[in-house]
Amino acid sequence: MTELLYMEDIEANYIEGVEGDVERAGDDYVVLNRSAFYPEGGGQPSDTGVLEWKNSSADVVKVEKKGDVIHRLDGPIPEKGTEVKGEIDWDKRYAHMKLHTAQHLFSAILYEDYGGETAGNQIYTDYSRIDFEPVDLSEEDIIDVEKKVNARIKEAHPVNIYEEDRDELEEKLEEDRVQLSLLPDSIDVLRVVDIDGLDICPCAGTHVKNTEEIGSVKITKVENKGKDRQRLYYQLK
Ligand SMILES: [Zn+2]
Repeated sequence: MTELLYMEDIEANYIEGVEGDVERAGDDYVVLNRSAFYPEGGGQPSDTGVLEWKNSSADVVKVEKKGDVIHRLDGPIPEKGTEVKGEIDWDKRYAHMKLHTAQHLFSAILYEDYGGETAGNQIYTDYSRIDFEPVDLSEEDIIDVEKKVNARIKEAHPVNIYEEDRDELEEKLEEDRVQLSLLPDSIDVLRVVDIDGLDICPCAGTHVKNTEEIGSVKITKVENKGKDRQRLYYQLK
């Protein structure tokens, strides 16, 4: 099992590079004992970057969770037992962190003020989209949502990551903001992303440690996706 460093706590989300050993090598991938790379999942894209060892290196083009965490490489493949150093493309990862924390803020505001549940989301490097239902936001509402999210960003709320028992979390959470019932029964302990107690949400993604790091966001487009369902697109400003 690969130790995924960013899982530990919020500080660990800022690890840009780390040394590890190749545990298994395939035709175009390696499995490491330890990694700072985020594997694609939960609406957040994979990190990319580079692996270096001895006098060689290869680009990490994608990281996927397929039982093991697979680092797909473009270049030579280091053999089992090789000590490698992995470096993440930091600008891209940091953008994902900002956009992901912003997504939690959007989801919280939409839920609190409009009763909209988050029905899906996808982060890209330049923008993100979130689906909400049931909502029917007017143009005025959109302006209001953007204002409220930017106000929370500016209030500089600390973000924390910790583990919590599922039962305790169930008591703490508002019923529809997060649908814990959708998670498999086998999961008893959840990694929680807590924005200063304002929003508490189980999530395995990477986040900034203070909302002010996001800067500000702009809603660029709203699409109707059938009855009572809308898709919001936003970018960092
Ligand atoms: Zn999340």
